[in-house]
Amino acid sequence: MYDYDLLVVGSANADLVIGVERRPAAGETVLGSDLAVHPGGKGANQAVAAARLGARTALLARVGDDAHGRLLLDSQRAAGVDTVGVLVGGAPTGVALITVDPSGDNSIVVSPGANGKLTPEDVRAAGSLFHASRVVSAQLEIPLETVVEAVRSLGPDSRFVLNPSPPRPLPQEVLAACDPLILNEHEAKVILGDALVGDDPADWARILLARGPRSVVVTLGAEGSLVASAEGVTRVPSVKVDAVDTTGAGDSFTAALAWKLGAGASLAEAAAYAARVGAAAVTKQGAQESFPTAEEVAAL
Ligand code: ATP
Repeated sequence: MYDYDLLVVGSANADLVIGVERRPAAGETVLGSDLAVHPGGKGANQAVAAARLGARTALLARVGDDAHGRLLLDSQRAAGVDTVGVLVGGAPTGVALITVDPSGDNSIVVSPGANGKLTPEDVRAAGSLFHASRVVSAQLEIPLETVVEAVRSLGPDSRFVLNPSPPRPLPQEVLAACDPLILNEHEAKVILGDALVGDDPADWARILLARGPRSVVVTLGAEGSLVASAEGVTRVPSVKVDAVDTTGAGDSFTAALAWKLGAGASLAEAAAYAARVGAAAVTKQGAQESFPTAEEVAAL
């Protein structure tokens, strides 16, 4: 009865990457490698990750009427994402300017561009997409008021999943809708702020849960994740792999978890599957390029 397993409401960026021997200091110019342009942004990444696993996926996002926007639309369609909700125009496509040194440390400047123009009105205009989607997932690379409107637009039985990245304090209305709130340790610290107690992520998950979400998942990189609900806190181990590049691990984990929850899995089952997806993603370079198919996850 649902047309989509997952509707992703979020950002789409072109990642412009230059390798450098040394990242420039203030006022300095350095020479770097040839420019590489990759489709990215947390919303676009989650949509591609879900579609590649086989989820019927739609993306609600905004890109510019420019070459980067076309790159993003092409990569979504190539993965099988329905782009009926991708709006074009209003500002240049969002861009992340990334310099990476040989040790893998990077410096990043983000121009939100069209992502900042995805408005509550755009969400209202896409109301039929929300009612056609079993699960809706969002992140915070778009205006917060747009995320609030997404929560208000959920279908009566739709589930809402939020990765609060980049982190900022969240209104109660958004927190209460999350099932789950999925965040890493850094994001948990920012959102808890003064309420942060000790250094045990299980305690953070309990404190976050008391703030209103129906469930919470704290991701711990190679250490796996913690899932917390009224039934308690459970540790879900990661899958041991040789990590090559962790970019996009969180996005693929979140997309996989959201999809599996919609398909009826328990939180722990969905997190175990998502751990396999995240592990597969870190064995390859890049973000969207590294996201596995269902067959690759099964073979892991
Ligand atoms: P990102 O780097 O995309 O921002 P994140 O900080 O949001 O990621 P992580 O906790 O790094 O999220 O990763 C999400 C999940 O991916 C983890 O819970 C784990 O299951 C899997 N994962 C990440 N890194 C590794 C790794 N090195 N080995 C195995 N699994 C991993």
